[in-house]
Amino acid sequence: MVDLLDCTVMPYAWGSHTAIAELTGHASPSSGPEAELWMGAHPMAPSRLVRSGSAQRALPDVIAESPARELGPEVSASFGPRLPFLLKVLAAAQPLSLQAHPNEAQAKLGFEDEDRRGIPRDAATRSYKDSSHKPELLCALVPVDALCGFRRACDTLRLFDELACRELEPVLAPLRASPDRDGIAILFRSLMTMPGAEGSRLVRATVAACAARVGSSGFAREYEWARRLDALYPGDVGVVSALLLNLIHLDPGEAIYLGAGNLHAYLSGVGVEIMASSDNVLRGGLTKKHVDVPELMRVLDFADGPVAPLRARAVDAHERVWDTPAREFRLSAIELARGDAVTRDARGPEILLCTRGSVVVTPGDGSAEVVLDQGRAAFVPGSTGRYTLVPADPPGTNASLYRATVNLT
Ligand SMILES: [Zn+2]
Repeated sequence: MVDLLDCTVMPYAWGSHTAIAELTGHASPSSGPEAELWMGAHPMAPSRLVRSGSAQRALPDVIAESPARELGPEVSASFGPRLPFLLKVLAAAQPLSLQAHPNEAQAKLGFEDEDRRGIPRDAATRSYKDSSHKPELLCALVPVDALCGFRRACDTLRLFDELACRELEPVLAPLRASPDRDGIAILFRSLMTMPGAEGSRLVRATVAACAARVGSSGFAREYEWARRLDALYPGDVGVVSALLLNLIHLDPGEAIYLGAGNLHAYLSGVGVEIMASSDNVLRGGLTKKHVDVPELMRVLDFADGPVAPLRARAVDAHERVWDTPAREFRLSAIELARGDAVTRDARGPEILLCTRGSVVVTPGDGSAEVVLDQGRAAFVPGSTGRYTLVPADPPGTNASLYRATVNLT
């Protein structure tokens, strides 16, 4: 049985006031920020099944009751009685903090260690909210700007040479001596451990140099973002750290995959994001929240190099998939034109999110069909087998949906 989902919106301060309201068709923009729409079974904000005629039930409870039926035999055998992925719509009006996510071993140890130290699970000083790693993929719905991974060291030196900021020279010395990941690690550590007043002075000098160079350099966009970040987080050394990272632009339909240890920040835009079902974040600047520097340094991958947007691979005439190495998730997009009837096979649990138009989902097992309007999501149990997608009224409109499932080979 396919069910509509009732999903929670997270009101983080950086969120857009309009994007999620527009997508979900709510009449007026929200009075507060709407940052992330969570579709899944993460304990912090589980989605609820909207089953007609009965009370809403939390998705994790439904899965726990019958893992083999809800997840399918393959997924419940490999992952246990829990949904392995979390799907989100992310809507950034302002930049998110610089952050990285742990690998599996780090997450398990970190979670156990913070439990042992008696840090409450919901404490602001807690980094590990669960014991899972958090590989993630963001696919742009509108143009997205992001910082992602350390730029090639020699290119970063060129950026600072063009900037010609004398005050930066002492901290840049290790990178000049060792223009590779080791130099980047030493430079980054010195920024993260710099006393507050000294850091603020350095940021002021850097931003003044950026303001002088904007418009006259190949790094004009990087310098412009440094100014904007400083306006939002005055004196935060994350403004300087951001200049060490690749600044990338995604057009709609392009994506980025972020593996463990990748330092990144979404700066602006709206996207569909999928990740292993986890909320484990190590922050690294551009935030007023807790920053655990030793743990961040343990988790970060200082490998340097360029990042290219990930383009989708066509599966057939209707569906295209963004391939990643993550086992927990697989994200694809399905386009439907008038008259199309597309049949898919659910071997594992799926969440379908309609981002344009309206789609009728008809399970092959004879259970009730579900109409998925723009901005709505539905849960397809792993034992559903075949189901059919047809664009709904009004006739003539095309429909777009995102299909989230487990990366079964
Ligand atoms: Zn992230």
